[in-house]
Amino acid sequence: MRRKDTLNYSEEVYPGIYRITLPLPGDRPGPVNAYLFIGENITLLDTGTARTVRNLKTAFNGFPFKFTDIDQIIITHGHIDHYGAADHIVKKSGNSVLVVAHREDVQRIETGMEVSRKVVLDFYRLIGIPDIHIRSWQLMNTAINAMADNCRVDTVLADGDTIQMGDYMGKVISTPGHSKGSICIFIENKGILFSGDHIIGHITPNAFVMLEEDEKLPVRLSQTEFYESLSKIEALKPTLVYPAHGKTITDLDMVARFYRSCFFERRDKILSILDSGEKNVYKIARKLFPEISGPRLPLDIYLAVSEVYTHIQTLESENKVHLNIRNDTLEITRVDTEN
Ligand SMILES: [Zn+2]
Repeated sequence: MRRKDTLNYSEEVYPGIYRITLPLPGDRPGPVNAYLFIGENITLLDTGTARTVRNLKTAFNGFPFKFTDIDQIIITHGHIDHYGAADHIVKKSGNSVLVVAHREDVQRIETGMEVSRKVVLDFYRLIGIPDIHIRSWQLMNTAINAMADNCRVDTVLADGDTIQMGDYMGKVISTPGHSKGSICIFIENKGILFSGDHIIGHITPNAFVMLEEDEKLPVRLSQTEFYESLSKIEALKPTLVYPAHGKTITDLDMVARFYRSCFFERRDKILSILDSGEKNVYKIARKLFPEISGPRLPLDIYLAVSEVYTHIQTLESENKVHLNIRNDTLEITRVDTEN
């Protein structure tokens, strides 16, 4: 199947694979890339938000088929910019599109939430975020969630599964860290990888806290899982990496080195803030990222505390810090290595 020559809205990044770049408010992480695989099984990898359906439709003007002819949508992970338009496409196509995602992000895609609001708010209070910022975050979060429609998932993926995408066969690589159910897709015989938000060239991805419905504190170590997933991807030695935000990556080793040096630097800064006597996760985050302010503040606080907390979890697993709940607030202290 060939596209028409008039197409301006998407770019063929590999034979039969098109990158469709869709706007997203703000400059971090920047516009989201959906990838369209044409041929045998017309596949859309990620969809953009419910607000960018029109842009997506426009991008399809250049193809000899309509966007309702998509056979399947694969979602790299359950964040709104990746699945937000899926339900619209499913409904417009008369429910003939298969929606596919990793089992651990299904709940997010189907309900918009991973755990109940109470679990999230209790955790934020426990790590010391002031109520005023929690309230602002709730408002901002409601606005962000409105950019996506919940969507049923038809097929559930697991690590190592293979899946037909256009004329290619993709292998599912489970890469938890950014979310529980984040996946990359590796087209092994071509050495190309679609990395979702696990690998992005221009910023370090956030390893978000992974909350559980019945636990006060996250059990899984997001940052540690992120490093493990990164090593797993490096071992594949892809020659080209197509991220969900930003440009194609031609040197994965360089990006991986950049990630590790940024993360280790932040981790060392967290340790020195702890050495100065600060015990409160929220206050550590504000000291680590003193520059955050302005209209994005509630979102940036959420990103900052998530990053600090997930580094602290890794430090705790290495017996470098100790976690203790006192007066309904979590306190972090250094483990005294001299005794
Ligand atoms: Zn994401």
